[in-house]
Amino acid sequence: IASQAAQKRGWHLYLVGGAVRDLLLAKEAAGDLMIKDIDLVVDGFHKTADVGAGVELAKELQQLYPAARLEIHGAFQTAALLWHNDPELDSLWVDIATARTEFYPYPAANPEVEASSIRQDLYRRDFTINAMALRLTPPRAGELLDFFGGLLDLQAKQIRVLHPNSFIEDPTRIYRGVRFAVRFGFEIEPQTEEFIRYAINSGVYDRTAQENSRTPALQTRLKAELKHILEAPYWKSALQLLDNLGALQCIHPTLKLDEEILRQLRLLERCLRRFDSQQTLIHWQMRLEALVIHLAPEYRGKVAQNLQLQEDSIARLKKFAQSFNQVMELLPSCQHPSQVVQLLRQYDLPMLILIALHSSRFLRQQIWYYLTVLANIQPILNGNDLKILGYKPGPQYRQILDDILAASLDKVIKNKVEAEEFLAK
Ligand code: ATP
Repeated sequence: IASQAAQKRGWHLYLVGGAVRDLLLAKEAAGDLMIKDIDLVVDGFHKTADVGAGVELAKELQQLYPAARLEIHGAFQTAALLWHNDPELDSLWVDIATARTEFYPYPAANPEVEASSIRQDLYRRDFTINAMALRLTPPRAGELLDFFGGLLDLQAKQIRVLHPNSFIEDPTRIYRGVRFAVRFGFEIEPQTEEFIRYAINSGVYDRTAQENSRTPALQTRLKAELKHILEAPYWKSALQLLDNLGALQCIHPTLKLDEEILRQLRLLERCLRRFDSQQTLIHWQMRLEALVIHLAPEYRGKVAQNLQLQEDSIARLKKFAQSFNQVMELLPSCQHPSQVVQLLRQYDLPMLILIALHSSRFLRQQIWYYLTVLANIQPILNGNDLKILGYKPGPQYRQILDDILAASLDKVIKNKVEAEEFLAK
């Protein structure tokens, strides 16, 4: 339908990027394919007025499919149609862009856009396997446009970058390259790896990692890529590959994987599985926090802020050193379960998990026991019971209930009768 609408106006329409790659991969593997993200590009017009062709097409499609939400991104001449939980389509995202070239006024900046042909549009992309197009309009509908050898690279299982300077222009491409390599079980082609190492050695990643008001869009893209990687099942291999390439420097120049981080990440996975049902645990974010905590304390908050992590995550990373020291100092001297509860209940679950990862085996077991057992113990009496027993409601309730909880945690009382006797005393 989109192709007919384009054809009616004398334009060409192409399916481009990831959907073409995934279509060809599924064909090679004779596997199933579920595409949720469709990128279309309109091309073939001559008037500059048609620069908004993608938007015009999206508007027409939206009239035919009112269930879709239309989003227009003016600065980039693109529009998106979104179906969310649609009974027929489930979730689907269709981006419609006008063929374009991008200019980078300085390294690591956001692209500026100008109308251009499909070849140039594909030429600005990252990897050969992502730079193919499938023509959707006649004549030659169904033809594959593969100017840069993407199909051969798919068959040879290679991630090959299009331009030597690609990683200097946009450092997040290294994360994308790694993500595709690990996800598809491909190799990063040797020359591409050299370009990556060259970019890293040139210091472009150091600049990205510093606080830099000129590159907030880059930090946003970096965060999106990190999220993508850290929530995928292959996150560990991707992290290892990023580290081998020296690309964790993009987060901070001193960040490197070592045995200790890997051990902690393994422990973290056990915690995440155990507390999987807890809404407070965002897995990719916890993995990122566990990484960032390995930086010197003075860098943690800054890195979290640069990456625009959630407020609670930034606060946790800033407060970690203080909280950790406090627990290390006080937990060993807790004699009774009630003291453990008193100390640990001031921290949220993610903070306690992070503290546990850094603790000795003995203290980790204490924290674990608190999280799995002690934290779930409720006072034997509640406010209602106190009322029935004749206590006047007021602020003293909190203290009384705390005392009852402490007594039941320390096994001084075991049931309601004992609790009432305890209160009477
Ligand atoms: P995925 O399946 O992970 O979504 P994708 O290739 O569809 O993979 P998108 O992020 O949706 O990934 O990008 C769509 C297309 O846009 C890519 O296939 C690529 O051609 C191009 N692209 C995306 N990000 C960049 C970038 N940083 N530099 C150059 N081209 C990019």
